[in-house]
Amino acid sequence: MSLAHGRSYLAIPGPSVMPDAVLRAMHRASPNIYEGELVDMMKTIVPDLKRVARTDGHVAIYICNGHGAWEAALANTVAPGEKVLVPVVGRFGLGWAEMARAMGIEIEIIDFGRNAPFDPARVGERLKADTGHEIKAVLAVHVDTSTSLRNDMAGLRAAMDDAGHPALLMADCVASLGCDRFEMDAWGVDVTVSASQKGLMVPAGVGLVFFNDKAHEVRKAMPRVSSYWDWKPRAFPGQFYEFFGGTAPTHHLYGFQTSLEMIHTEGMEAVWRRHEVLAQAIWAAADTWGQGGPLRLNVADPAHRSHAVTTFFLGADYARDLRMWTQENMGVTLGIGLPLEELNAQRGQSQHFRFGHMGHVNAQMILGLLGTVETGLAALNIPHGRGGVAAAADVLAQALVPDRD
Ligand SMILES: *Cc1c(COP(=O)(O)O)cnc(C)c1O
Repeated sequence: MSLAHGRSYLAIPGPSVMPDAVLRAMHRASPNIYEGELVDMMKTIVPDLKRVARTDGHVAIYICNGHGAWEAALANTVAPGEKVLVPVVGRFGLGWAEMARAMGIEIEIIDFGRNAPFDPARVGERLKADTGHEIKAVLAVHVDTSTSLRNDMAGLRAAMDDAGHPALLMADCVASLGCDRFEMDAWGVDVTVSASQKGLMVPAGVGLVFFNDKAHEVRKAMPRVSSYWDWKPRAFPGQFYEFFGGTAPTHHLYGFQTSLEMIHTEGMEAVWRRHEVLAQAIWAAADTWGQGGPLRLNVADPAHRSHAVTTFFLGADYARDLRMWTQENMGVTLGIGLPLEELNAQRGQSQHFRFGHMGHVNAQMILGLLGTVETGLAALNIPHGRGGVAAAADVLAQALVPDRD
């Protein structure tokens, strides 16, 4: 038998669960793209996006995914032959670096492995040694979605300032935006890259590049910028179509209007706090399960764990079996382990699995997710400590003790 029939839950780290209100907002005939409602909506979508990134800078909106936003950020700031420094943690920093190389940019990687965040001091040392200021930008992933490590962006900025280096600080916040605290202006980030389908709760298909005036000065000094990726007309449009370099992503804009309203009605601080408490509940369950078996969190130090995604080690056959079991029997799809090399090396038997808990997730969904995994561990006879769900419930109960004053 199967108990999967009912509303399914895609608990992978993006695309994330879409609110019904977002889906309803998108379920309509195409609007007029020359005038009226769609054009007017940009007056709130643009400032609402900037409020999520905590910036008074600018935003360029692209019809693309996160990979496209990576390319957009580079295309406006780093010319072929110029150099970027990439502190790499897990898979995504490497991906951004590889894309830079394919664009003719010289890349220098400092590899920090898969279990700890990057060390801003080491990046600072490298920048100090770059007395000729050849490094034009530092590409840094805020939350690495493969390892679930969260890096210290403010610390990285401090190390760059300490080195007295003028390189741009570019942050990949595809996984973290709208989940983990991120303060673009206060932390001194010059360029922030994100996408629609994770914390922003809209389908995949829109990439975002936020940038400040310093980054725009760099853009102006570029020998040339390919016209589709040029952020100038998108951020400073004379005509509506210039926002998007052509036809607007009409339905995504309706989705954004609703999702941004949901985020700001809840409040950024409350959104971050919700993700934090839900993540703590997940960690408590994992700690308990790990007391009687192989399961463990990839990131040992809670201070370095993302609140948007969690990577678990479970061992080769177990991780695969659990993912297949939860999908077939419970209607829950868990994320596969990354990096993909591991998948290939293990004949499709990744030793890890991941939860996405970004965006439209609340306590009952997380308890359902944890209950599903606990049930799977029992049904598959995978050794584990008992009581993970109860441990998670304790964390939630403590966070929700009613205010008595
Ligand atoms: C998802 C993700 C990307 C890639 O986004 P796509 O939309 O899949 O191209 C890049 N960086 C991080 C940190 C991500 O989580």
